[in-house]
Amino acid sequence: MIDLKGKTALVTGASRGIGQAIAETLDRAGAQVLLNSRNRDDIEQVAAGLTNNPQLLEADLAPAGAGTALAQRVINEYGGVDILVNNAGIAMRRTPGELTEADVDEVFNINVRGLLMLTTGLGETMIERGGGSIVNISSVAGVIGPLGRVAYSGTKGAVDAMTRALAADWGCHGIRVNSVAPGIITTDIWEESRRTIPGLIENMEAGVSLRRWGESQDVANVVLFLASDLASYVTGETITVDGGMAKVRGGGKPEFKE
Ligand code: NAD
Repeated sequence: MIDLKGKTALVTGASRGIGQAIAETLDRAGAQVLLNSRNRDDIEQVAAGLTNNPQLLEADLAPAGAGTALAQRVINEYGGVDILVNNAGIAMRRTPGELTEADVDEVFNINVRGLLMLTTGLGETMIERGGGSIVNISSVAGVIGPLGRVAYSGTKGAVDAMTRALAADWGCHGIRVNSVAPGIITTDIWEESRRTIPGLIENMEAGVSLRRWGESQDVANVVLFLASDLASYVTGETITVDGGMAKVRGGGKPEFKE
């Protein structure tokens, strides 16, 4: 049983999907969870289901300065955090020919800049608190080369690279930094693709060794492990939670018998 009693955790993008499952899971383990998202009503609903005095931190993390400002607010109001889960992010499906400079800014601003500035903004107090655990949500799109997602893939590759770099910078202070790279998880992030690409679900399942889409809880379970002392000697890692997609030959039946 993982016990996070006495720990404070900030989860960004906690209003739905993977972030909501992470917030609920950390709360069940005993942590006080600070919930961030753009929409207060949405995080209020999630907070209503939590038990350890959850707090709401409404903030759009995309604009310049937003990550730093949220970090400052967390320090002023709560004295910092022991666990930081950088989950907020957007998807972007564009062929190289379609991609504009505005698209690149849009996806990098939230997936990379917001994440990094929030994290560095909280780093000093995490050091003063004696260490902590940072879990960044990246994607299999940063591990394998996905079709039609060059900018999104770039942001998630950057998240994994920054994870390793921060693990190097902060390991001596007892801060572990890891990332979790989800595969295809049933959340609203797929809404547009589902509508615009017929047969998407069936086709993608075929590339998953376990032959199913993942649930948000599948990701939250691994985040809980990384946030806890069970992962006390794990840092700078990216763990794929993808049912066997990025690193396993997915789908199909064995072609040869022994
Ligand atoms: P989702 O769209 O359901 O939820 C995203 C969350 O991030 C929401 O709470 C949203 O409000 C928040 N958010 C988005 N932009 C924000 C901003 N500018 N400021 C503050 N909050 C913002 O998506 P999800 O599937 O739960 O995705 C969560 C994370 O997992 C994302 O980083 C995503 O890239 C990653 N991911 C998801 C999948 C998947 O298949 N669902 C696969 C790989 C990676």
